[in-house]
Amino acid sequence: MKVVYSDQYDLNLGNHVFPSSKYRLIKEKLLQENVIRPEDIVEPAPATDDDVALVHDRNYIWKLKSAKLSYVEVLRMEVPYSDELVRAVWLSAGGSILAGRHAFEAGVGVNIGGGFHHAFPDHGEGFCVLHDVAIAIRRLQKDHVIERAMTFDCDVHQGNGTAAIFGGDETVYTVSLHQENNYPYPKPPSDLDVNLHNGVRDTEYLAVLEESLDKALTDFDPQVVFYLAGADPYQEDQLGGLKLTLQGLEHRDRMVFEKTRARKIPVVVTFAGGYARHVADTVRIHSTTVRVATEFADTGPAEE
Ligand SMILES: [Zn+2]
Repeated sequence: MKVVYSDQYDLNLGNHVFPSSKYRLIKEKLLQENVIRPEDIVEPAPATDDDVALVHDRNYIWKLKSAKLSYVEVLRMEVPYSDELVRAVWLSAGGSILAGRHAFEAGVGVNIGGGFHHAFPDHGEGFCVLHDVAIAIRRLQKDHVIERAMTFDCDVHQGNGTAAIFGGDETVYTVSLHQENNYPYPKPPSDLDVNLHNGVRDTEYLAVLEESLDKALTDFDPQVVFYLAGADPYQEDQLGGLKLTLQGLEHRDRMVFEKTRARKIPVVVTFAGGYARHVADTVRIHSTTVRVATEFADTGPAEE
């Protein structure tokens, strides 16, 4: 199975709560454990500005590229502005476009990154600068690969940017399972919002997930599902208040792939958030998602 990855996804943010080194650590773990082979790794090209403009305002794009964001706009992103940041987010968007194409070749496409669901057309927030998933969906639509897409967002934080971008658009069905008492406030409505109370554990979470995924797939019948496999519903997450275990998160992933595979719907994986006290846990959760994905890709798992 091909995976999309660039060393330049890593912003080298040091002790920042956003562990941008996770992308490199995940890639290394996947290689070490023979989940992927070096030749499975595909480097993305940056999205073009025309691709980005399918979602984002031209003025915002210009401000990003020419370092013209205001102090308040940078504060709201919650990641320091740099040329490396701009490079990374354009690459991540290109990566999700490429993973989208892979999904139509192998049933599953994976971007070892992306899932920046708090980005809006005219601003970034919550570690998200460009909405790579929305850009990928718009590009696949523009190329007539698809007409109808679904976002299935399991990050612990509601996908406010996704909801805002696709609100009123009948071609994209947005689903978000998230902790109700957590950022973002307000939460613009998704097509299906599942508001979870604090401290929800595996059994309840998986039951709600199954019900909402069945309902969404039946009601909408998408041609592709973009799965935002956030690692932050984990019980040890610093920015989340749910209580999922590592096993619960693996069951979550498996359920998403099983139900989409049963309907022959390609899946595109992006990672979204993950802020476990120990970065190794975040790395493990995301690596597990990729390992489970290989079981459902037409190319199968890498040879031992
Ligand atoms: Zn999150």
